[in-house]
Amino acid sequence: MPHSSGGGSHGGGSHSASSRPSHVVSHHRMPGTSPYLYYRHGVPLILYANTDITGAAYRNEKRIAFFGALFFSLLLLFFAVLSCSPADKLTPYPASECAVIDNLDVIDNEDVLLTKLNEYADYTGMKTVVLTVSSSEFGLWANLENYAYSEYLSRFPGNERMWLIVYTEEGKGEWFFEGMQGDETDGVLPETASGRFNASLSSALDGGADVGDAFLTAFDDLLEYDPFTWHFGTAPVFVCGGLALFILIGAVIPLLQAHDIKKGGATKIHLDEGETVESMERVMCEYCRKKYIPRFHKACPFCGTPRTTRNANPFPEMDFTYPEDNANDF
Ligand SMILES: [Zn+2]
Repeated sequence: MPHSSGGGSHGGGSHSASSRPSHVVSHHRMPGTSPYLYYRHGVPLILYANTDITGAAYRNEKRIAFFGALFFSLLLLFFAVLSCSPADKLTPYPASECAVIDNLDVIDNEDVLLTKLNEYADYTGMKTVVLTVSSSEFGLWANLENYAYSEYLSRFPGNERMWLIVYTEEGKGEWFFEGMQGDETDGVLPETASGRFNASLSSALDGGADVGDAFLTAFDDLLEYDPFTWHFGTAPVFVCGGLALFILIGAVIPLLQAHDIKKGGATKIHLDEGETVESMERVMCEYCRKKYIPRFHKACPFCGTPRTTRNANPFPEMDFTYPEDNANDF
């Protein structure tokens, strides 16, 4: 089925998406979260989460999300590269012809324009028909795009290698045009090229050029676009590349954080209102020499060595402490 190659007229929208993550992991206290303590380069850090971030399930989830993102990014990059690859010249259907069908009688230089259309057809293999119609003609179709679509189907049945440009005007200085291109013409007439053509035609018409001259200018402009080379500077490349990078970074950061959390001996803790961990007493593990806050760990969070304190009593059945009042006897 053909599709619009865009249009122009003498005459936007906004998109927003929001998603509520099911897992909240934040440096700030949020409703429904519990504090988790972990150490990074010896510094105790608190994360608030509503899921168990210390378990393997959490890391696996981030790992799966990362590989999903990697796969999706590679797919995007593949399409990005595909979108800038050189097109193949089309082989037109034998019966198809370029034509200027000027029902409105607004094109003075029909022959010159037809020559230009044929020149463009020789270059790309795509044949173009320029059709001018009165606005009453397409009234039934609600808009010019619907009209152009149905005209394309009825004029070129089964032929996806044509380009139909419908032009109409209502009052003085009020003009509209709409292009309809076959599906197989996407290579020789990508959006970059049709956008360039539409802009050129619009500006020529706005400048008060005769309709035929405006079309000639736009086709001259279009002929400077070479669809048979690589086009790395096209919008899809930047959009796909940027999106791929964005998705990858968005998945890498939580994955690295999940590993940091594991490496940092993460534990779920209880903090009283207004308590902070920075100034809490720390002890050094006798085995791995790393420091941690003893209040939250029975054993070293890094190597698992049980905590012993210098003053710990190795013989709990014997009391080595001296009564306060005897201390002065020494
Ligand atoms: Zn240790």
